[in-house]
Amino acid sequence: MHSDCIFCKIATNEFDTEFLYESDEIVAFRDLNPKAPVHVLIIPKRHIEKISDTNESDALLLGKMINAANIIAEKENINDSGFRLVFNCGKDGGQEVYHIHLHLLGGRSLTWPPG
Ligand code: 5GP
Ligand code: ZN
Repeated sequence: MHSDCIFCKIATNEFDTEFLYESDEIVAFRDLNPKAPVHVLIIPKRHIEKISDTNESDALLLGKMINAANIIAEKENINDSGFRLVFNCGKDGGQEVYHIHLHLLGGRSLTWPPG
């Protein structure tokens, strides 16, 4: 737990956030400033700054994050229409919060390539 990290605080439920999914390692909650009708952030409870800080020993955790996204997509009824999963990494990747999070975006047709 990093006391200056907003997502660590959310993960320990300091703000009484509604979790769409929770396991011993992962929580998911709605983005404060949604970019699509469904915009959910899936995060590990453990503080990891950037996706580039992960390695093979994190493979199971990262796979579980994708699995959590699938479960949420099903609950949010965007399985058939489709969705996008995104990790922003570092400055050029547009990362704003330095605690890794998987964006689940759906509920509208998303353009490609992203800006
Ligand atoms: P990034 O640009 O780092 O990939 O994405 C950070 C995301 O976190 C943004 O979409 C932003 O709207 C969201 N966000 C930032 N602070 C908070 C917060 O306190 N609560 C929630 N639910 N989302 C946040
Ligand atoms: Zn953190």
